[in-house]
Amino acid sequence: MLDDKNNSPRKLTVPGRYGRSIDVEKGQYVAVRDIEGGQCGDFWAIDANDFDHYLSPPHTWIHLGRIQPRIGDELVTNQRKPIFTIIADDVGWHDMLAPACDRQRYERYFGVKGHRSCHDNFLEVMGERDWGSRMVPQPFNLFMNTFIESDGTLLIRDPISKRGDKIIMITRMSLIIVVSACPMDLNPVGGQGITDLEIIVADSEEEMMRILN
Ligand SMILES: [Zn+2]
Repeated sequence: MLDDKNNSPRKLTVPGRYGRSIDVEKGQYVAVRDIEGGQCGDFWAIDANDFDHYLSPPHTWIHLGRIQPRIGDELVTNQRKPIFTIIADDVGWHDMLAPACDRQRYERYFGVKGHRSCHDNFLEVMGERDWGSRMVPQPFNLFMNTFIESDGTLLIRDPISKRGDKIIMITRMSLIIVVSACPMDLNPVGGQGITDLEIIVADSEEEMMRILN
């Protein structure tokens, strides 16, 4: 089983290099926690009633006028509808630019065949939910540390998330959330090693804080 459909509150571990999914109702709180620190998590949110409707980082750039989200910001879908509001964020720096790592990324740039990838992790978990032949949406890359220099150069640096750092969002529609604990261990994105992430779902902010503390 790559998913969890139990009642709130819930905690689900996403093992390093693998993906997991979880169902979340409109109005619930969802947190993703970096258990050890320094672990990038590719994050997707799909409308539970329409798989062609999902969280879209590029649409969110335009909605916010920024490529970095902040506490209080509303994230939007590929139909420009509100999907999350960020209510807490220990790191304050994530990536909304990069596509999911995939087999070609490891083969072409690192000469490694058969490496696990966030792209395949997404298809593995959503394959169990009849995702079919749809494309993998662009993820919101939690705890991933990218920079754009003034000349347009893209830099990928070691993650800055520390042990236990988390982001908490309130959901604005019923969703399937997918998180992949990114298996990239061939460039700085992976930090000091690939470790587990945790997804927490709660009905209220108070309940979320109780679970987290
Ligand atoms: Zn990845």
